[in-house]
Amino acid sequence: MNEKIAIYPGSFDPLTNGHLDILARALKIFDKIIVAVAATELKKPLFSIAERVKMIKTATLNLKNVEAESFSGLLVDYALQKKANALIRGLRAVSDFEYEFQMALMNRHLAKHSKNQNHVETVYLMPDEKYTYLSSTLVKEVVRLGGDAKNFVPKFIELALIKKFKSSHAKIHL
Ligand code: ADP
Repeated sequence: MNEKIAIYPGSFDPLTNGHLDILARALKIFDKIIVAVAATELKKPLFSIAERVKMIKTATLNLKNVEAESFSGLLVDYALQKKANALIRGLRAVSDFEYEFQMALMNRHLAKHSKNQNHVETVYLMPDEKYTYLSSTLVKEVVRLGGDAKNFVPKFIELALIKKFKSSHAKIHL
């Protein structure tokens, strides 16, 4: 059987209910989704890669056909290695569009010109409208300032955020 495998890449710092909404939608289309935490030097994350992968695994324990791991290097090479030919991304608003458009075309170009001439398409999914304003950055800011994040992240992630912000050192990482 030809399994339809997709990669859902991102920073997931931390995973939010918006990410989970996209994941649930993607599972209706694909046989297996690999949530892939990008090990990038560009952003200063609050949670380590291992913490983020663990949080995703915990939050998706009851979802069949979901895996979580980290990756480094080119996303298209990673997708090829995983036998995936689709990338999942979420689109919240027009503001996401320009960056996503550039990235999708770059990934398509890189895949086509790789030695295996892989074929990678990016599939964009829109979350429920209640998540269109939600981002990991905003959730971190809400919790850092003492706000209630229960509608935005699973409970155990809210607790992990509170714990992180208890150490004053973490406050500089927003
Ligand atoms: P990035 O990879 O840009 O660091 P994130 O890790 O925050 O972004 O998110 C990974 C993917 O999930 C991106 O495609 C992002 O647009 C999408 N996403 C993030 N938050 C939401 C949300 N609330 N609703 C829908 N999609 C989202």
